[in-house]
Amino acid sequence: MKLDQISVRQVKGVSALKEGELHAFGVRTIADLLGYFPFRYEDYRVRELSEVKNGEKATVLGIIRGNGILQRYGRSKSRLTCKIEVSGMLVTAVWFNRHFLKEQLTPGREIMLTGKWEQHRLQMTVSDSEFPDSAKNSKSGSLQPVYSIGGNITQAWIRKTIATALEQYGPMVEEVLPYELVEEHRLMTRAEAFQLLHMPGDFRKGQEARRRMVYEELFLFQLKLQAYRSLNRVRNDGIAFRIESETIRSFAATLPFELTDAQKKVVNEILTDMRRGYSMNRLLQGDVGSGKTVVAAIALYGAVKAGHQGALMVPTEILAEQHAKSLQRMYEGLGVEVGLLTGSMTERKRRDLLASLQMGLIDVVVGTHALIQEGVFFRSLGLVVTDEQHRFGVNQRSILRHKGMNPDVLTMTATPIPRTLAITAYGDMDVSTLKEMPRGRKPIKTYWVKHGSMDRVLGFIRKEVSSGRQVYVICPLIEESDKLDVQNAIDQYVQLQQAFPDLKIGLLHGRMTAAEKDEVMSEFGANESHVLVATTVVEVGVDVPNATLMIIMDAERFGLSQLHQLRGRVGRGEHQSYCVLVADPKSENGRERMKVMTETTDGFEVARRDLELRGPGDFFGTKQSGLPEFKVADMVADYEVLETAREDAGRLTEREDFWKNESFSRLWSILKHDQLFQGEQLD
Ligand code: ADP
Ligand code: MG
Repeated sequence: MKLDQISVRQVKGVSALKEGELHAFGVRTIADLLGYFPFRYEDYRVRELSEVKNGEKATVLGIIRGNGILQRYGRSKSRLTCKIEVSGMLVTAVWFNRHFLKEQLTPGREIMLTGKWEQHRLQMTVSDSEFPDSAKNSKSGSLQPVYSIGGNITQAWIRKTIATALEQYGPMVEEVLPYELVEEHRLMTRAEAFQLLHMPGDFRKGQEARRRMVYEELFLFQLKLQAYRSLNRVRNDGIAFRIESETIRSFAATLPFELTDAQKKVVNEILTDMRRGYSMNRLLQGDVGSGKTVVAAIALYGAVKAGHQGALMVPTEILAEQHAKSLQRMYEGLGVEVGLLTGSMTERKRRDLLASLQMGLIDVVVGTHALIQEGVFFRSLGLVVTDEQHRFGVNQRSILRHKGMNPDVLTMTATPIPRTLAITAYGDMDVSTLKEMPRGRKPIKTYWVKHGSMDRVLGFIRKEVSSGRQVYVICPLIEESDKLDVQNAIDQYVQLQQAFPDLKIGLLHGRMTAAEKDEVMSEFGANESHVLVATTVVEVGVDVPNATLMIIMDAERFGLSQLHQLRGRVGRGEHQSYCVLVADPKSENGRERMKVMTETTDGFEVARRDLELRGPGDFFGTKQSGLPEFKVADMVADYEVLETAREDAGRLTEREDFWKNESFSRLWSILKHDQLFQGEQLD
């Protein structure tokens, strides 16, 4: 019998009632119970009183030097005091509601006290006490586990139950890691680690046990990603695109600029992948404005010239329209047909478009993420380019596989991702990074002003517009209400119109129809309006190189990455650009964000600081981030282990015998049960 097949009922002391209560915490089997690790430890290690600070909780050893004095209040309340000698000092121990202890307080007897030390009164308020001469399950001298448990289950009960379970079943805990890795990293066995995590005894052993489980957790996680990656290579059933270098070179020659070295490098990485027989699964990351779009355009061009179709998936309709237009421009006269698929197009147009896609009359289709779903069929979909906000998931791949397609996938991120998060959230992908900005870009000058300085801000707007440039004014999304959010933008728009009656001001928000948005964007893009007041709908991807001033209202409401992303809407051409953050941040965190923004324009640095300030859970701000929840490991603090685990998992899954050698069968079965591999043929 395996531990995950034995019910917790089998543990001595677990009644049907308790079993039900444990279920509420997801504990059903012995494996669940033993794997229910404490989230912290209570320190019962004995200390010298002289080292304990006033107000601190500690455990000390003493000798009883007097008789217990008991005061009772009402029926059940009581206060018991007694003089105890601790480290040569005479201390008053105070217990509340433990009247029954009085009888046991005999002078000369040793006693262990755990409680809060009040130095000036030489008094300890005792929360726990023990007589070393009679203690059975002695807590003192140890670290006691604290579990995240509640309801009718007490800490004492769960401690006892887990201890019993460990006695009964502890030796049956099986090793999951390959022997060579346990050896290499000098890890304790899994059984030992389970034992010590629940009952560490001393601190160092507890640390070792944790190290072992952190490694295991991160290794198994990386194994999954790396196995998925290697399986894809082994299967080798993707499209081996036949793309001539000359085709790419002559296309690049038609662009109005020369590619940066960084762009050339990543284009090569992508093309190399596309030409291989497996399906590409690659992440393209680069700072805002580093020129990812043109890289995507080249890859799509290559796919089309090799006889396939391409799809570009973006998060908003505005962006879809914009990308469709810029692709059309780039492909002009080169025989590449671009189509646009949005939710708001008429049924008739949609039907026409779908038919052309299916017949192969359209080579590249741009749209939001519904693109590859319901009722959309391609003649031969070869390459999907998508963006970070919607990670191209395993299920999307399987939708396509069901339609008989296995395209290459290129995922682009809007902003750089700290490496820690990248190898966790995108660990199954190969990564290309654009490390360089197009030549001639001047760093955006960023200022932070208080709300009271609107006059100066207005003056700045006037100045930029007078020299022929354009301005964005961004109003924050008000989360509680998208009505307020829109109202906010409208108010701002009205105010600006009053301040600048001679200027043409555009307004863009989420409540407008697609056609309205398109018109506003087109006007701004064609320099027919001077100022664009918008909510964060312009956050990603919008590209108007003549815009040089970005004003962000209530900037404290935005996260760092979002601010950086918004700032990236300017500084896209040869003119010096500026970003003004209008904010009165009350929180320290808010001040810190404004500071980071004014100090650096480097997206990699901003991302690093953002992770520091927000922690990994909030970094992406979306549920689809693909970040797993670890039980023991902390992906930031345990970063070095994560790196090692990734290397180990990569090396192992690349080995020719990985899927054959029986000694890895434990790992296969773990993989087989993972959602990532559902429906995959593993042997
Ligand atoms: P990203 O998507 O990475 O934020 P874009 O692809 O929108 O950036 O590019 C930003 C701007 O830089 C666009 O106006 C684009 O035409 C321009 N651009 C891209 N590559 C180059 C280059 N090599 N030289 C000059 N300008 C470039
Ligand atoms: Mg390929």
